[in-house]
Amino acid sequence: MNNLKDIVRSNILTLEPYSSARDEFNRKEGVFLDANENPFGTLNRYPDPYQKELKQKLVEFKGVASDNIFIGNGSDEVIDIAFRIFCRPGKDKALTFSPTYGMYDVSAAINNVELLKTPLNEDFQIDINGIEEYLNDSSIKLIFICSPNNPTGNLMRKSDIEYILKKFNGIVIIDEAYIDFSLSKSWVTMLNNYSNLIVSQTFSKAWGLAAARVGIAYASKEIIQLYNKVKPPYNVSELNQKAAINALSNSVDYENNLELILSQKEQLETILNRIEIIQKIYPSDANFLLIKVSNANKIYSELTKEQIITRNRNNLIENCIRISVGTPQENEQLINALKNITI
Ligand SMILES: *Cc1c(COP(=O)(O)O)cnc(C)c1O
Repeated sequence: MNNLKDIVRSNILTLEPYSSARDEFNRKEGVFLDANENPFGTLNRYPDPYQKELKQKLVEFKGVASDNIFIGNGSDEVIDIAFRIFCRPGKDKALTFSPTYGMYDVSAAINNVELLKTPLNEDFQIDINGIEEYLNDSSIKLIFICSPNNPTGNLMRKSDIEYILKKFNGIVIIDEAYIDFSLSKSWVTMLNNYSNLIVSQTFSKAWGLAAARVGIAYASKEIIQLYNKVKPPYNVSELNQKAAINALSNSVDYENNLELILSQKEQLETILNRIEIIQKIYPSDANFLLIKVSNANKIYSELTKEQIITRNRNNLIENCIRISVGTPQENEQLINALKNITI
């Protein structure tokens, strides 16, 4: 990558960030009369704007320095802030590989940034020979790579990601929302090798905290400083920080649930393979299966009638339905319902 400063919006480079009361005085002891808080109650104080305790837990868990960590209000905030740091509205562009996660599109549109889409190949891998023009286009500031990809479930090839990281002069965001379900190593281990890499992870999936809205970005210290400049001062509530800290402190629960989800996934795959109306199950490194059926719209609506809600992805990939792995009982209900559908 070129100098980071060359690809950051100039208004962000010169931005004077908001200085909160807790920025100016951040020790724990004292009589606090500086932030116009209510002196009564249990949630009366503003939360730590830099989520230091949570980051310290992640330092221990992931072996990444806390200077390399940003905590967001879900990964959605990680994505949105990337657009706001790097893309001038109406001028700069971003690139994704379709089909993929819908939020890149929405966030680009909100920020008035054109999102270019280049299709994945038949194996849902990046068509690495077909993207040269994009890698050389200086108006493209961000490339999103979702791996394992939603909704296809597969990991993107390591050599292709490496090639993009080396050749592209902008920022590469690898969205690893599902990486905990995969045996493959996270790209977080490569942070020191690539100054243009942002790895995005979340507490919403394997950690079971979708309701809490806690996302993570791992990147160079310089990129994290830009994130800190742009984020709302108190972007992650005290309740949400606590929820994530508690989850990391009880990682045995996390590991047990993860193991159960993975064994259920394997079992589900075996059984679904024997069901007539299912033509194909795509390989998945995530906690969901993408299945190809004879008539997705029909099967989706039949399942819904049985109060089993799946995601009809027919509009993205013809006749495909995405199914999250549930509890053993939920999976059994799904299987029984599918067995009873006749087309
Ligand atoms: C579910 C998901 C996320 C999680 O988003 P949060 O805002 O952290 O809940 C991120 N990326 C992808 C691809 C997802 O499927």
